[in-house]
Amino acid sequence: MPTVTRAPDEKTWHGVLARASDPAALANLQGQGEQCDWCAHPIRLIGNSVSVDTATGVVLRSYSTNDEPDGVLLKACGTRRATRCPSCAALYASDARMLVRSGLSGGKGVPESVSTHPMVFATFTAPSFGAVHSARGGRACHASKGPRTCRHGTSTSCLLRHRDNDPVLGHPICPDCYDYEQSVLWNATCPELWRRTTIYVRRELARLCDMNVKELDQSVRLSFAKVAEFQRRGVVHLHAILRVDPRDDDSDVPHFIDAQTLTSAIRTAASKVSAPLPVGFSGTSLGSARWGRQLDVRVINAREVDGDASSSSESRRSSRAVANYVAKYATKSTDDLGALDRRLTSLDDLDARNVSAHLARLVTTAWRLGALSHLTRLRTWAHSLGFGGHWLTKSRRYSVTFKFLRAERQAWQVQRQHGTAPSEQSINVGVWKWIGTGWRTLGDAWLASQGQREKMQSRTEAREARCIERRSSADPWDERPRHFLDVEAVES
Ligand SMILES: [Zn+2]
Ligand SMILES: [Zn+2]
Ligand SMILES: [Zn+2]
Repeated sequence: MPTVTRAPDEKTWHGVLARASDPAALANLQGQGEQCDWCAHPIRLIGNSVSVDTATGVVLRSYSTNDEPDGVLLKACGTRRATRCPSCAALYASDARMLVRSGLSGGKGVPESVSTHPMVFATFTAPSFGAVHSARGGRACHASKGPRTCRHGTSTSCLLRHRDNDPVLGHPICPDCYDYEQSVLWNATCPELWRRTTIYVRRELARLCDMNVKELDQSVRLSFAKVAEFQRRGVVHLHAILRVDPRDDDSDVPHFIDAQTLTSAIRTAASKVSAPLPVGFSGTSLGSARWGRQLDVRVINAREVDGDASSSSESRRSSRAVANYVAKYATKSTDDLGALDRRLTSLDDLDARNVSAHLARLVTTAWRLGALSHLTRLRTWAHSLGFGGHWLTKSRRYSVTFKFLRAERQAWQVQRQHGTAPSEQSINVGVWKWIGTGWRTLGDAWLASQGQREKMQSRTEAREARCIERRSSADPWDERPRHFLDVEAVES
């Protein structure tokens, strides 16, 4: 699979010239690029398909890759990771934003009444597994309170004032003191801890409402959407939207359950809940996984749909800000550069990935734990430092699904291409053959990366233009130059 280099080397340059010197070949590449949205690693297919009306048996449309540029169909890779493919990740982020927004303020088939339901945005963090280097807003990183050196002879203090982009942030002060095993097993237990948390929140809500859980469940439902994000120290934390809905769609949430009640229930639940950690290297119990002390809960102001995200107060979050937040984290990787985007086949595989010593030790610990018969899954999750959950999940009733949003987009594309929406009475039958992944030559890959860059640039410009438009529609005078006002004042 060709990889894209920033400046084309000689071999890439030959490929670029071969395309660029032939207008028809260049037009083919343009067609292919638009077909797959300038995906970085498209799947190349050949084959044909027909769309048949199931009621009448009439062939509505037929398609063959023979008619496509270069005779192949390019299908976008569809990854969520921005490090793998910026174009597909941007589409994923847009769907994630839509999925979250519709659950906050309605739309896409979700009633607008959800915006009146009690809802909060909460960030759950992991506990400490050992002292790490941290940026403390101009203060010293780690002033030691106890002995000056640990039992490994390493200094226990760091008086540096780290900047936000310091690569040492999140790395242990003493790697030998840091509990790598607990860190990996905590990541592995995080999905179960979250499942139990949702049960505990319902339990605490019931307690606050003087009900039992059964009575609460008959009256309301707890819906959520959450995204996992890796902290620099290599543990996940969760950003979650939690919403209380009436059990019956036609009724309201009881007046005694509001966002403050939900906040109290979450805080108590988070302090009480735990999930047993799996037995590790020692063969004895390692206790339970619990949330860390840092828990941030903010009420979501869903009515503020068109407000500027930056205008939200400290204790409240607008739905736009929350949706942008979730979408941003949904496309992130385990590490900043995406070196751990793929599963490991062996520990030798890790050497080539050039990750920091801290991440390498976490991966190695997960891999070694995976040798235990009850933890074999940790080999599959070693590249995600033990975390095997989904990155973005939601409860069934929170809002629409990614599948729904993709189907809607596909229907719109069919409508645009053929002038008619796909009939519900039709089926597609096709024969496809996979012939490769990625652009055919290094030259094509390089040209595709340029197409992708231009596309992302125009998307950014369009977004900025929308922001200016929104601001000016909120207060038309704010955006006007001062001399404009002066002229009008003179004329009046
Ligand atoms: Zn892609
Ligand atoms: Zn430090
Ligand atoms: Zn130590």
